Amino acid sequence: MAEIPATSNGSPPPSVKNLPARPRVVIVGGGFAGLTAGMALANMAVNVTLVDRRNHHTFQPLLYQVALAVLSPADIAQPIRSIFSKKRNVEVLMDEVVNIEANDRRVVLGSGAKLQYDYLILATGSTHSYFGKDEWAQYAPGLKTVEDATEIRRRVLLAFELAEREMVETGAHPLLNFVVIGGGPTGVELAGAIADTSKLYMRHDFRHIDPAKSRVILLEGSPRILAAYPEDLSQKAAKQLAQLGVEVHTGQSVSDVKPGYVVVGGERVDTVVTLWAAGVQASPLGKMLGVPVDKRGCAIVDGYLNPPGHPEIFVCGDLAHAEEAGRQIPGVAQPAMQMGRHAAQMIGQDVAGKPRTRFHYFDKGDMATIGRQAAVANLQWPFKAHWSGLLAWLAWGTVHIFFLIGFRNRLAVFFQWAWTYLTFNRGARLITGSPLLPGWGQQAGIRPQVLRAPLDSTSPLLGLRPVPPPAEPAHETKSREAS
Ligand SMILES: Cc1cc2nc3c(=O)[nH]c(=O)nc-3n(C[C@H](O)[C@H](O)[C@H](O)COP(=O)(O)OP(=O)(O)OC[C@H]3O[C@@H](n4cnc5c(N)ncnc54)[C@H](O)[C@@H]3O)c2cc1C
Repeated sequence: MAEIPATSNGSPPPSVKNLPARPRVVIVGGGFAGLTAGMALANMAVNVTLVDRRNHHTFQPLLYQVALAVLSPADIAQPIRSIFSKKRNVEVLMDEVVNIEANDRRVVLGSGAKLQYDYLILATGSTHSYFGKDEWAQYAPGLKTVEDATEIRRRVLLAFELAEREMVETGAHPLLNFVVIGGGPTGVELAGAIADTSKLYMRHDFRHIDPAKSRVILLEGSPRILAAYPEDLSQKAAKQLAQLGVEVHTGQSVSDVKPGYVVVGGERVDTVVTLWAAGVQASPLGKMLGVPVDKRGCAIVDGYLNPPGHPEIFVCGDLAHAEEAGRQIPGVAQPAMQMGRHAAQMIGQDVAGKPRTRFHYFDKGDMATIGRQAAVANLQWPFKAHWSGLLAWLAWGTVHIFFLIGFRNRLAVFFQWAWTYLTFNRGARLITGSPLLPGWGQQAGIRPQVLRAPLDSTSPLLGLRPVPPPAEPAHETKSREAS
């Protein structure tokens, strides 16, 4: 457990002295923590600059719905500038913070410009960790941004398209194995959604392959999935995944990720799409602060959310290592928003000449969705309960609509979900970007170059001409297997 700095019991609360009439607050990060801080500061006698390297806030809990083509990117993202358009004391800069000169109270932007601050709220979140094997990222993308989501969508949909094409052209296609590495909430959501997509939503759209015959394999290194949830809920999640047809393998770590396959427990598992949901590390800005960080790079903060020796800096959200009753506060949306709000309120206390109060995390519980009518919920408020199945799924949907940023988004998501639920039709099934799928054709025993007669070479609909077999199929086969 990380050592938490002792500004606590007995010592006076931290504060910043000799403030100008309107202190300048720089917020880095327009995620859950940064946005909430900005909104709370919008009504105070301060000038705020919010810097984010993207022009939009992303509602990450619904990213997987973009990845699996239920929602479009614009349904879950909102331009940060428009969120603050009516808040006259907040300006928004689209730039990347590349360094922090904490002793001089400046952040350095990618453009080279430096922003002076009286207060800094650092909320740049976290990113994927491949545990030092960054080369795996190209074969197993993770899910954190809108770009990640559209790339995953591209790969999953493309796998079905390539299989259909190869069936028509050669009469065979690789096993449609979708492998998700990591059995936390994101991995569970992705695995369930791929199973749903192939079984419910694609079954009528292909003439030659049967998407429902694809396999979805969830690999988790620890003994159970959803390890942060109570054991009964993780068992219920495993049961619901099994009902959707997802094969869950626990206690087995992936030792290699290659184009077209992964190695788990010393065995090769062929895959057409591999997704990464196994590791998280903090944004590098935590280390740049020059304060103690934990093993994931989160800045260790005291009970007031300040790193040691810097009462003018608040670290919030996934980037903060804060503890409550000796346990680390989890890196999820609720604490991020509560921390952002608290940091803003403490700046307000300083400005008003009042003492700061300690941060207290109000835990309302956690939910993870698994698929259509399948979810688990560990409720802490307004009452304690463990829910699973339809009830948990409805609660999950209601909460996520409620917390979405922007009225338009709430309406769009509600109608899109209702439409998808009633019609089994998904509107955002677009493949954009490259038509190539990393690892396609590298699966064991696949001989896509060995062209066979198409299943229905005379089909007027397909307009196909019979493809002549290659002159030396044996040679072609060998070179592909060797590659
Ligand atoms: C796929 C997925 C699903 C999730 N589902 C849930 C869920 O169901 N429930 C839940 O409670 N939580 C969920 N989470 C976790 C939750 O989204 C995070 O805990 C939350 O987003 C953390 O908020 P934050 O403000 O700390 O960081 P973020 O929301 O990640 O925001 C960080 C911001 O900082 C910006 N930034 C980063 N580096 C820089 C830089 N150098 N310069 C400028 N800007 C920078 C980024 O562009 C981003 O806008 C999920 C996360 C993911 C990835």
